Amino acid sequence: MSTPIQCISPIDGSVYVERTTLSLEAAREAVARAKNAQLDWAALPLSERVQRVRDGIARLGDMNDDIVEKLAWQMGRPVRYGGEFGGVDERAGMMADLAEEGLAPIEIENSASFHRYIQREPHGAVLVVAPWNYPYMTAVNTVVPALIAGNAVFLKHASQTPLVGEHMVQAFHAAGVPSEVFQNVFLSHETTSALIEEKAFGFVNFTGSVNGGQAIERAAAGTFTGVGLELGGKDPGYVMDDADLDAAVETLIDGAMFNAGQCCCGIERIYVAENLFDAFVEKAVAIVSGYRLGNPLDRDTTLGPMAHVRFADHVREQTADALASGARALIDPELFPDQGGAYLMPQILIDVDHSMRVMREESFGPVVGIMKVKDDAEAVALMNDSEFGLTASLWTRDIDRATRVADQIETGTVFMNRCDYLDPALCWTGCKNTGRGGGLSIIGYHNLTRPKSYYLKKPVN
Ligand code: NAP
Repeated sequence: MSTPIQCISPIDGSVYVERTTLSLEAAREAVARAKNAQLDWAALPLSERVQRVRDGIARLGDMNDDIVEKLAWQMGRPVRYGGEFGGVDERAGMMADLAEEGLAPIEIENSASFHRYIQREPHGAVLVVAPWNYPYMTAVNTVVPALIAGNAVFLKHASQTPLVGEHMVQAFHAAGVPSEVFQNVFLSHETTSALIEEKAFGFVNFTGSVNGGQAIERAAAGTFTGVGLELGGKDPGYVMDDADLDAAVETLIDGAMFNAGQCCCGIERIYVAENLFDAFVEKAVAIVSGYRLGNPLDRDTTLGPMAHVRFADHVREQTADALASGARALIDPELFPDQGGAYLMPQILIDVDHSMRVMREESFGPVVGIMKVKDDAEAVALMNDSEFGLTASLWTRDIDRATRVADQIETGTVFMNRCDYLDPALCWTGCKNTGRGGGLSIIGYHNLTRPKSYYLKKPVN
């Protein structure tokens, strides 16, 4: 059955885009067309697929001026930040550069007697389920390597950002990626699950909430479909006693607040060594007090609304709960008179502890709790006291100490003196409830293909 989906703009609560989902029958037909077209796509030389995908990315870049404003309407990010093309281009470019190495056969022996090697085979049709928070960058992480590896791609984007998939396929089709090979589809959750249960896809990559990831995994149970799950986080920052304070506070606070805190690897909790705690908090409050919350179309706005009023209400509840349990809020509400609905003022909380939801549950909003710690052991214990494990950010001048601490953290990525970033040459992954993703890097190619072994015994002459 087809159902309507709506993007309610966080700017003013109006209906910005309406689309209709595909019925299960129509979706099945689309999958069948994709599977047919995939064979010819995979038969093209790798260099040709890489070239068309690079060209598709360039065409997406040409559309950026149009995209930026539409993005603001769909999910609220201020136009002053210029969209996502920088990150899109960096990730896509890296995956294009890594294609030959990532997809190369692994040669074991090529002697007079044997040729033994392991080849990488595309899965066939790959489903990419993407979130609205960085809607282009998160989709590109899988769409680009999946296409380059010779798969057909079905992109099911978030209902909050329905124009994103349309822009992507427009750019890629113009670059010569066949329309059946890369399809943007509007699917209900039920149809998505039904297709996975029917083994429609060789691989599914889901980026989103833990609940959503669990639903996808349930649908895939027993089908042996490969599933990549890039889920939520509660990423910590740890400022050690020898850190460059200014760099730490500027970067971590930006990591907590940018995109209204709606970054999967955004900083959600900060632990600061005792000697730096007061100065860190003072500087953090000064930075956040200078933000301008408002209409994201206004170029002076540095903090837009959250993508939906329900996301803002979730953060309001967590904050109220922490305050009721003894936390202190340091940002003056009078500095943000226009807050309400999806527009949520940023907040810094101290006197927090891990009994509070705001230090345990994902907030995915512009709030951060800051705690004092006495040493590395306490910081490690607190960083690991989480059901999530996406990234952790360490601030120190001592790389050996950072490495020792890093070795003890249960996380997908450790940064030293950086945060809220994704290096496409490294594997994008997580542990615990963050799922079991393995995107980007050479490993991304390995997950988007299956190994096929060749044991060829040569005739004796
Ligand atoms: P969400 O509700 O799970 O939605 C994300 C995507 O999954 C959307 O396309 C959504 O479709 C779809 N979806 C959700 N449940 C589904 C189901 N049962 N069947 C089929 N599709 C389903 O996530 P969100 O709360 O909007 O997004 C924020 C979350 O994403 C946060 O937890 C964040 O940490 C996480 N995230 C993680 C990463 C990472 O790399 N680890 C990156 C970005 C975001 P509809 O929109 O149509 O519901």
